[in-house]
Amino acid sequence: MPNFQSILEAIHQEAIHAKDKGVVASYIPELAHINPEHFGMHLKTLDGQSYGVGDYNVPFSIQSISKVLALSKAMALVGESIWERVDVEPSGHPFNQLALLEIENGIPRNPLINSGAIVIADILLSNLEHPKEDFLNYIKAITNDDTIRYNESVAFSEKVTGFKNYAAANLLKSFNNLNNRVDDVLDFYFHQCSIEMTCSQLSEAFFFLANKGNCLKNIAQLSETQAKRINAIMLTCGFYDEAGEFAFEVGLPGKSGVGGGIVALLPDQFVITTCSPGLNKKGNSQLGMLALEQFTTKTKRSIF
Ligand code: GLU
Repeated sequence: MPNFQSILEAIHQEAIHAKDKGVVASYIPELAHINPEHFGMHLKTLDGQSYGVGDYNVPFSIQSISKVLALSKAMALVGESIWERVDVEPSGHPFNQLALLEIENGIPRNPLINSGAIVIADILLSNLEHPKEDFLNYIKAITNDDTIRYNESVAFSEKVTGFKNYAAANLLKSFNNLNNRVDDVLDFYFHQCSIEMTCSQLSEAFFFLANKGNCLKNIAQLSETQAKRINAIMLTCGFYDEAGEFAFEVGLPGKSGVGGGIVALLPDQFVITTCSPGLNKKGNSQLGMLALEQFTTKTKRSIF
């Protein structure tokens, strides 16, 4: 058994001394204020151990990582009918040039690009009685943590600058692939992206995807097959146009967000989360990618 804590500490030291820490996303004005020096890493193993280094208990904006949790909730609510409205093919395009290029005949290429996530938001809006409250409660329940919140300033910041997301949503609506009003769907979508969580909360939230669909409290959130499908989608579509590179370097299913977070997991073994807000040219956390590559290399743990 590798000494996980000392491996994480060695990676942490390397990360904080790295010269190129990437560039903090500024297209969502509220995110531009994040401290670029922030670095955290947290590992949760399925046998119940937790390991953390750096700022692993400091909340950050989960952004696109929320798309996996929204997809999980939608799958639990409506099952396989999701795939009538969104495809499961990798995109190969940046998340933010996404919209118009990624929608063929009104069907987004996958649920982890913005246009696909907007369709999933529409499904949640149609199937939850109090959508924003119920979705947050779902995340609190799977994480076993009542303190998780939306950041209203971040949601508002996206609402007033999210022109491409409005374009995507309007296009989806024109193809009859949104059942609710564009403004309502995007209000939900901007809120889900604004959720703030720490690395340790995210490792706990994603536990069920490493544990055959059963969350920390051992309650089934998804079937084993559904969890397998979500992991497959993360592996092929979780890193914008860098999904191939992440599989090549790290070898785990995972999802990144422009807030600088990355969650990755090895089924039946662990969930690992990193946060470092500087992004590389493809919009993924520069140090998070490096840290996870180091982790799977040093521990020899990956799906391959
Ligand atoms: N809320 C962001 C957007 O829609 C999410 C982007 C991301 O993290 O990839 O642009």
